[in-house]
Amino acid sequence: MERVHIFNAGPAVLPEEVLREAQADLFNYKGMGLSVMEMSHRSKEYQAIIDETEATLKRIYGLGDEHQVLFLQGGASMQFLMVPMNFAHEGKVANFINTGVWSKKAIAEAKKIGKALHVAASSEDKNFSYIPKGYELSDNPAYLHITNNNTIYGTEWHYDPEVPAGVPLIADMSSNFVSKPIDIDKYSFIYAGAQKNVGPAGAVVVIAKKDFLDTAASGLPSMLDYKVHTKAGSMYNTPPCWTIYMIGLVLKWVEEMGGLEKIATNNQVKAKYIYDAIDQSNGFYKGTVEPEARSLMNVTFRMATEELEASFISEAKKVGMIGLKGHRDVGGCRASIYNSLPLPAAKALGEFMIEFMKKNG
Ligand SMILES: *Cc1c(COP(=O)(O)O)cnc(C)c1O
Repeated sequence: MERVHIFNAGPAVLPEEVLREAQADLFNYKGMGLSVMEMSHRSKEYQAIIDETEATLKRIYGLGDEHQVLFLQGGASMQFLMVPMNFAHEGKVANFINTGVWSKKAIAEAKKIGKALHVAASSEDKNFSYIPKGYELSDNPAYLHITNNNTIYGTEWHYDPEVPAGVPLIADMSSNFVSKPIDIDKYSFIYAGAQKNVGPAGAVVVIAKKDFLDTAASGLPSMLDYKVHTKAGSMYNTPPCWTIYMIGLVLKWVEEMGGLEKIATNNQVKAKYIYDAIDQSNGFYKGTVEPEARSLMNVTFRMATEELEASFISEAKKVGMIGLKGHRDVGGCRASIYNSLPLPAAKALGEFMIEFMKKNG
């Protein structure tokens, strides 16, 4: 059977080249007689894999010695808890910009552990259809947390926000990690679940400024303590070995594609196929967010009735396009078009949308 076009929100599509390389390595990794899944994480061979994965990420983002890369477990959801535990110190206030479901979950975790918090801006008044232009910090902010791409509502920050000197900027980049060049120096701490843009599920990637990491709380339970993970080189306990290996292959693929500039251009072309189909449909397809906030990773849209949406999703499936149903919290349709989605897949979806409209409009 041919592969289908995978518009899943996460776990999501992986590059065909990466899957084939992993397949070739699976049974017998580089002639060692075993797979990466069977190797000791303490072996020099596995150390080389994790080191190379880290080095590739550093090259892609141009990171130097002032940055620390970590591969952790528990997904981005664990970071919702670890970030306030480690960085929202007594007497300081965790600040958030609320742009949707994932921001709310981050806020909820900080609240659960009793941290002082403040919502510095929110787009909830218009059903999270935009990115707030300004924000108002509390007194004594510990940091400002943003959700860089809103996977469920389909909005994205298209710039790196300014923060006052001394206020660390923290970003959940789960769904647009490694998708475009960013001003990395503006961020004190970035985290991203791997399963959207850089690999299979099972790891969350952290990029943090070392001087910021140094301010983390001490004496926390080990698995929740960034200092412990940093000291142990992301191997305090058994790491998700296979996932990290796969992240390494995906990052190598990004490099071979030409890096962030090239990936970003590719992502813009892909998104345009679908947004054009929406914009030229005379309202048959209705984008759910303000055009200037449109995500290049998750394209969300609605049709006149839920029946029509259901028909769209099932017709698309018949021609080999899967994963187009919107998140269960918001309904409608969503095409996730991450880095690894090939350009012809996005083009095919744009064309399918036009065809479907002709038949049903
Ligand atoms: C998917 C997602 C998460 C949750 O990731 P897990 O790895 O499942 O915990 C958090 N934030 C954003 C922006 C996401 O897209």
